[in-house]
Amino acid sequence: MFSSPNQKIPIYFAKTGEVKRVDRVEKSDEEWKKELSPESYQVARKQGTELAFTGKYHHCHEDGIYQCVCCHTDLFDSKTKFESGTGWPSFWEPIAEENVTTAVDKSHLMVRTEALCARCGAHLGHVFDDGPPPTGLRYCMNSASLRLVKRDEL
Ligand SMILES: [Zn+2]
Repeated sequence: MFSSPNQKIPIYFAKTGEVKRVDRVEKSDEEWKKELSPESYQVARKQGTELAFTGKYHHCHEDGIYQCVCCHTDLFDSKTKFESGTGWPSFWEPIAEENVTTAVDKSHLMVRTEALCARCGAHLGHVFDDGPPPTGLRYCMNSASLRLVKRDEL
């Protein structure tokens, strides 16, 4: 999946507000399976989708930073979360363009934009263009791919 595995990549850190060049996080399937809950493993490493309205963050209004469940990269600020009514946590923009990458997903007889963690390649969900202003985007994420961390505990 990665063309240059040893090349450092820029990642934004919410704690300091800085973009630093860091190593990618690459682990074997076995390692991920050991570290993650079965649900997070299935969604984040196997491109699964949790059932709508079942995840722990779809109705969450707590303040904080949503990180990647796999590598703890900062992904979304709770200030950009909105009530989409879909049953999945939805955001109108990632915390930094460096931290969330996209790819074309042609599975399930649809062409969709997949959102992935830039540092470890975790599957996060999909991006749609029916979101609210100012971006008009809807990052439709899986709770199982995220972990919410309080701002002062970063
Ligand atoms: Zn990650």
